[in-house]
Amino acid sequence: MPKYIFVAGGVMSGIGKGTAVSSVGKILQSKGFKVQAVKIDPYINVDAGTMNPIEHGEIFVTDDGTECDQDVGNYERFLDENLSSDNYITTGRVYQAVIRKERNMEYGGRCVEVVPDIPNEVIYRIEKVAKKSKADFILIEIGGTVGEYQNLLFLEAARMMRLKKNQNVLFILVSYLPIPQKIGEMKTKPTQTAVRLLNEAGIQPDIILARSRLPLDEPRKKKISTFCNVQREDVISAPDVDSIYEIPLNFEKENLGQRILKKLGLKARKKNLSDWKKLVETIKKTKKQVKIGIVGKYFGSGNFTLTDSYISVIEAIKHAAWSLNRKPKIHWISAEDYEGCLSSRRLRGLKKYDGIIVPGGFGKRGVEGKIKAIGFCRENKLPFLGLCLGMQLATIEFARNVCGLKNANSTEFDPKTKYPVIDIIPEQKIFLKKKRYGGTMRLGAYKCELKTGTKSWRAYLSSNLLTKKVNLEKKYIISERHRHRYELNNKFRGILEKRGLVFSGINPERNLVEIIETKDHPFFVGTQFHPEFKSRPLRPHPLFREFIKRCIKK
Ligand code: GLN
Repeated sequence: MPKYIFVAGGVMSGIGKGTAVSSVGKILQSKGFKVQAVKIDPYINVDAGTMNPIEHGEIFVTDDGTECDQDVGNYERFLDENLSSDNYITTGRVYQAVIRKERNMEYGGRCVEVVPDIPNEVIYRIEKVAKKSKADFILIEIGGTVGEYQNLLFLEAARMMRLKKNQNVLFILVSYLPIPQKIGEMKTKPTQTAVRLLNEAGIQPDIILARSRLPLDEPRKKKISTFCNVQREDVISAPDVDSIYEIPLNFEKENLGQRILKKLGLKARKKNLSDWKKLVETIKKTKKQVKIGIVGKYFGSGNFTLTDSYISVIEAIKHAAWSLNRKPKIHWISAEDYEGCLSSRRLRGLKKYDGIIVPGGFGKRGVEGKIKAIGFCRENKLPFLGLCLGMQLATIEFARNVCGLKNANSTEFDPKTKYPVIDIIPEQKIFLKKKRYGGTMRLGAYKCELKTGTKSWRAYLSSNLLTKKVNLEKKYIISERHRHRYELNNKFRGILEKRGLVFSGINPERNLVEIIETKDHPFFVGTQFHPEFKSRPLRPHPLFREFIKRCIKK
């Protein structure tokens, strides 16, 4: 019988519910259980694919091409599991399914109602994950904050599930305890109010994860226990940490895993967090830095720098750097700074970094600045890794400045360019024309064959991401995740190759260029796919690792 743990958030958003869920999952996994996690996002959008990253943060992509919330990325990184569309539920998806079923007469002619039919659809989806995965634990993160209108139906689903499965369901509230500067004391009242709001929805939390700047002291634990109706041992202190990977260890210090198992009548099958502990030790003790510049555009919001848009890239850099005993120092560089009159002096400033990454992106803004930065890396032998758009812009830069194709461009930015070295994928043209934007990009995992002897091939050789000898021809095949509408135009392959661009990865089914690199450069690699989505803390992505290695050598 699978166990279900619902996790809701109290007081405010952004307190790390996703990492809390991932950490609970990691702990249970380390005790010998199979764990799956599901993210529920209360928005109407069917998926995250149509949202602006500044508003939503990164759009994470799974193997099956689901464009989802970045929390799913966190689950994958912590649990080291590949998740799918089943692990992501939105209000849009639920209503879409219920309406489709109604149209198909699947409700047997009765009146279909918001309650119970919407919560029932949610329950159906959660149980489907349990059935398909045969996991011992299904963790369900309910997005938003308790007390808001948006996630009420999901809380209702949780309540109904408890009614149905009783002792196989557990509720965790992730709450926040502010320490107002003027008062200087940690306050429990907002958490008490959050629990009351949860009670109103018919739910009593079994465990409270108390997020705060500092650890909880005994009086605060007792107070929450008394006023929120949970046992003192079930109030778990969750202070701010430098690295999110420390959180499972902190939870374990408070015995969280044991508390969960006890409540559900289970016993640990094994105990092994040692690899994870080693990782956290490395993170804490590493002092030597490696300085990486990310040239992007999705991080300005008013007076704040939001780096959420590139979370998988950041994590992939960290994983690789830690595995090489370096502390990653990431610098945000706005692409637009390299456009205009000051640009060449600014460009020279790039030398202070050990390497440059140009991540994915859409639209014209910042593109010319990124191209200049890439050109600087190529000419000055500065390690460079281009991801999706970054690879496309590296191709454009090479076409313009090495092949002499003046004003070469992508048809995304200049539809009339004489040299469309990057062009739209034919079927994408139809989607755009018909305004069918949602879920229509080239999405998810595709195969890519590596060219032997190249830098990329060498990088993958040492990793377990490579399927060797898939057939008698001894081909080197990898599978990586995509999210794009444009690609390298095969008509220009001849001239690019003649001038020294190496196509080190090709999609065998459609003959598309997936990886480019240059010779005579310590590391200048661009990928049409997003390697960052497959990087895991204990298994850094080989291309990121190789890139960081070169950065260190610089
Ligand atoms: N805008 C480019 C395309 O659609 C790149 C997309 C990306 O970087 N994810 O092909």
